Amino acid sequence: MSSEYEALSPETLGTRLAGVEALRGAIGGNAADWSVSEVGDGNLNLVFIVEGGEGSVIVKQALPYVRLVGDSWPLPLKRAFFEYNALIRQEDRDPGRTPRVLHFDESQALIIMERLQPHIILRQQLMAGRRVTDLGRVIGEFAARTAFRGSDLSMTAPEKKADTALFAGNVELCDITESLVFTDPYFDAPRNRHTSPQLDGLVAELRRDEALKISAQHMKRAFTSRGETLCHGDLHAGSIMVTDGEARVIDPEFAFYGPFGFDIGMLVGNYLMAYHAAGAHIADPAACAGFQDWILEVIADTWAAFVAEFSLLWHTERTGILYPRTLYEDQGHGLASEAALQGLLAEIFVDLSGFAGIEMHRRILGLAHVAELDTIADPDIRAACEARCLKLGQTLVNNRASLSGIGAIIALARRGE
Ligand code: ADP
Ligand code: MG
Ligand code: MG
Ligand code: MG
Repeated sequence: MSSEYEALSPETLGTRLAGVEALRGAIGGNAADWSVSEVGDGNLNLVFIVEGGEGSVIVKQALPYVRLVGDSWPLPLKRAFFEYNALIRQEDRDPGRTPRVLHFDESQALIIMERLQPHIILRQQLMAGRRVTDLGRVIGEFAARTAFRGSDLSMTAPEKKADTALFAGNVELCDITESLVFTDPYFDAPRNRHTSPQLDGLVAELRRDEALKISAQHMKRAFTSRGETLCHGDLHAGSIMVTDGEARVIDPEFAFYGPFGFDIGMLVGNYLMAYHAAGAHIADPAACAGFQDWILEVIADTWAAFVAEFSLLWHTERTGILYPRTLYEDQGHGLASEAALQGLLAEIFVDLSGFAGIEMHRRILGLAHVAELDTIADPDIRAACEARCLKLGQTLVNNRASLSGIGAIIALARRGE
């Protein structure tokens, strides 16, 4: 392939990628027999399924602009480089949980990867009221393994600092989160939209809530300055692909060094929105109630698995520069190590709550909404679901330091029923 970037199309892909050995090996060597379809339902990139006689793969290519908006909003191709680098680190830290990378071409901003099949996007599964076995445990472990193994608890100092420098280049994608997530929802930003006029009063109330706006910027400060670990950066129900029995994680182009609780907090926010939207998608009240119970179980399981796995790694893989064993276990102070761990987990939980609340706000007030809520056709019903999410988000942000645990978040969600 020539080194000058050019966007692929279903018509050109076979010719242009015919020479890529990894692709030929995965799907069969004769490019003339390949069939190509575009599946990208994402906001940013081109995604193709390429099928040959011996298999199929995904080809994902960045575009030099935001796909959702068009070329008026440029976005660097380099995000494919960050996605590739995040994918290979995640594969190392939680093997098998992400699609295997077969080939990366930096100049074309393209990644050829394993096609997850017959997996569908978790958000579609949630909207259909279908469960996924072990979802909470598997993603909780993913969050814990990537958080722990990408941090100063595990990595060597030179390795961590070099990697922090590498991902510090993901400026524009961080800027999207900094603006769209942490700031835009709390003022009348041009890119915002919300269900109007139904939510107008509540939106005004949120923007008058000074404590909330201070907390949102505290959380943003954690995002910009607390580079504790390599975060996925976009871990929502659209970045998890599932079957009834398996969950995998895709799309880490927003990867950055940030707070331990960022990914898991954003994810919990998404589950809470699915919880409050369920009534609009599942007609049978008993089925709906059962499904909502399951979502809350997933939230509890996710956090429990995070705590269990993070604790296990604390005890077995704490080889980095932080909380060294020389200070605790080696001096017979195992209890101090335990206290340090519990203190850290408590801090992560506070952040989880804050990020979850902000995620709910931005998905209802900002530019990028979630299908669970957006597809509710009746604006009064939609607004009622959204209002419950907005209020829950406000409580999660404002009271994040005084919540007694994941059970408290679950109880708050139920109270909004
Ligand atoms: P974007 O960054 O534009 O959001 P995604 O990586 O989320 O792109 O991919 C968009 C869609 O392409 C996904 O929602 C999914 O349907 C499909 N897709 C992406 N990666 C894979 C994969 N490895 N296997 C199967 N389908 C995939
Ligand atoms: Mg995506
Ligand atoms: Mg190590
Ligand atoms: Mg993406």
